Amino acid sequence: MKIAVLGTGTVGPTIAGALAGLGHEVVIGTRDPEATLARTGPGLMGAAPFAQWHAGHSQIGVATFADAAAGAEIVVNATNGGGSLDALTAAGAANLAGKVLVDVANPLDFSQGMPPSLNPVNTDSLAEQIQRAFPEARVVKTLNTMTASVMVDPAGVAGGEHSVFVSGNDVDAKETVTWLLKGFGHRDIIDLGDITTARGAEMIMPLWLRLWGALGTGHFNFKIAR
Ligand code: NAP
Repeated sequence: MKIAVLGTGTVGPTIAGALAGLGHEVVIGTRDPEATLARTGPGLMGAAPFAQWHAGHSQIGVATFADAAAGAEIVVNATNGGGSLDALTAAGAANLAGKVLVDVANPLDFSQGMPPSLNPVNTDSLAEQIQRAFPEARVVKTLNTMTASVMVDPAGVAGGEHSVFVSGNDVDAKETVTWLLKGFGHRDIIDLGDITTARGAEMIMPLWLRLWGALGTGHFNFKIAR
């Protein structure tokens, strides 16, 4: 399928590379393709500069948020939570209308220092904000509860014996996302319900962040035993 992955941090390239490896036609979206390709400094957490990553994935296009979304059947939001609404506004409501919009972002708020808190939280979620702002997009929250490498290679943690959640109003969109998740190797895919259930998935982040500190690694995931 034609998939736009909006985001050039750690998650965007990780998901884009995995999708391309599965045979999808992938374009990465960014605010300014030229500036992004000119970045030479390391990414967050020592990730390779974007251009270096792209040199090894030259089949993946790099475009503005709008151009990437315009040509896609599915759009993945892998942008910074604080910038997601701006990024999707730049992508353009018309380019998102009717499309599955996979939201993997977390609304982390670093304004009070570390560890970050969430904004919005509890009675709202970033996924709901996105669905309200783009009512014609079919938003599905997923994958935000694990680190990027685990998103696309679940077998790398406990042989893949762990869980991933989906939240969204559109049943067909959740089926499409479930199919994508199975392509990555996820087996325990739990449909939490409508888009308001994304509050729960986003509110796992405070626990995830403390586990990261306690375990000294982000390479873990949650298993819902039942
Ligand atoms: P990030 O640094 O959080 O986000 C980078 C992306 O956000 C870039 O594409 C950047 O655009 C865009 N961006 C930042 N501010 C923006 C603004 N004001 N307007 C428009 N776009 C803006 O990268 P990340 O670590 O890959 O995380 C991406 C998302 O996934 C985040 O929401 C994060 O919370 C979530 N998440 C991350 C992980 C992980 O393992 N890192 C795991 C689960 C969920 P440019 O391309 O133009 O620079």
